[in-house]
Amino acid sequence: MSDTENQMKVLVIDDEPFVLKVHVRLLTNLGFTDVTPYESARDAMIALEAGGKSVGLILCDLQMPEMDGVEVVRYLVNSSYRGALVLVSGEDQRILQTAERLAKAHALNVLGALHKPASPQQLRQLLEGKLSGGAKSEAATPRAERKIYGADELRVAITDKELVNYYQPKVVLATGKVAGVETLVRWRHPKDGLVFPDQFIKTAEEHGLIDEVTQAVLAAALSQYRQWLSAGLDTHVAVNVSMHNLTTMDFPDFVAKLAAETGVPLSKLVLEVTESKLMSNPLASLDILTRLRLKGIGLSIDDFGTGHSSLAQLRDVPFSELKIDRGFVHGAWQDKALKAIFDASLSLARQLDIKTVAEGVEDRADWNFLRAAKCDLAQGYFIGRPMPGELVPEWISDWEDRDLAHSA
Ligand code: C2E
Ligand code: CA
Ligand code: CA
Repeated sequence: MSDTENQMKVLVIDDEPFVLKVHVRLLTNLGFTDVTPYESARDAMIALEAGGKSVGLILCDLQMPEMDGVEVVRYLVNSSYRGALVLVSGEDQRILQTAERLAKAHALNVLGALHKPASPQQLRQLLEGKLSGGAKSEAATPRAERKIYGADELRVAITDKELVNYYQPKVVLATGKVAGVETLVRWRHPKDGLVFPDQFIKTAEEHGLIDEVTQAVLAAALSQYRQWLSAGLDTHVAVNVSMHNLTTMDFPDFVAKLAAETGVPLSKLVLEVTESKLMSNPLASLDILTRLRLKGIGLSIDDFGTGHSSLAQLRDVPFSELKIDRGFVHGAWQDKALKAIFDASLSLARQLDIKTVAEGVEDRADWNFLRAAKCDLAQGYFIGRPMPGELVPEWISDWEDRDLAHSA
């Protein structure tokens, strides 16, 4: 960073305190000396009015309760803001597109978009050399639509080690304790930025690359677990496996060998399985799943209720965990049909002695509903977003300070 960049005023706006803290620290580490965090966009806009022309960069979340990113963009246009803008988003591409289009149409200097929480590399790449001139770079512009990637590109990504793991916490509803994390793969694409699994997992499955993807994800997750363990964090780590992985008879031995090499007890590992529409060889999968369970690995039935995960699977496979799909979780407290399906799934799991995880917990109403329903674990944006592995220990200590379990 140049000296002028160092001294410019930077405003960071995000209603999630943890994300806010992480982004402020990343900017400080990049050499910015005047960075102010705002949980409220209104307060930030007031500060902008007061601070006037010296604000050179704004990092702004798009989804906030009292004033969303689109409104902020409108406000910046009206107040003739001349500095740079970085849009920060969760996973909603549509809002991102609208806000970006709006900002560009009004000739705001949009540097690009970040998925939160951003990693140091992502932020550095986005800001590098772009702050002084105000020239827009094509490369930093987020893509308009979600592109699906081909097998050749993906093959290169695997070889070049562009796949990275993010981790999302699962917590115990009754106590608030962190029970584990789920590994979610992302592709750090050299040109397109962070690419999500729905843009390449299917390609991997269809072109015989899924074994390599799973191996890379699993190896990275196990070695991350070792690092957490040396930092004093003892937790469970879950990895998603595709049904296609469960056609190779030596898969259980491969997993056991990898865990032994990394020094991770198999009882700390959970594999999440979604049944694909077509199981080419159900008996082989059953054989493999049973052997995984016999080794002490946790088995989770993912996306329960969506039709891919059928009752027959529940009958045949010794699952230890059932994940109720987010489609039946978020908003179930106010929707009779969702609630009925949620309750039935919960009761089924209880009778089979299987732990329940509710996915897609997006707000406090969801959280309160699940606590009252006595669901075991919860996962979702309300608790924590998927994040790079090195942020997990800090996230946990922040979370424990929040003590949600004992508040209403
Ligand atoms: P999944 O296993 O059901 O993972 C949960 C997905 O929901 C993740 O999307 C996560 O970011 C998202 N999510 C978490 N909390 C919330 C919330 O509160 N609200 C909403 N709306 N969404 C939430 P992601 O990371 O894009 O992954 C999509 C799917 O890709 C995963 O669904 C999983 O089936 C698959 N996947 C991810 N990583 C891997 C992998 O390493 N191997 C394989 N085979 N599949 C993977
Ligand atoms: Ca999963
Ligand atoms: Ca799921």
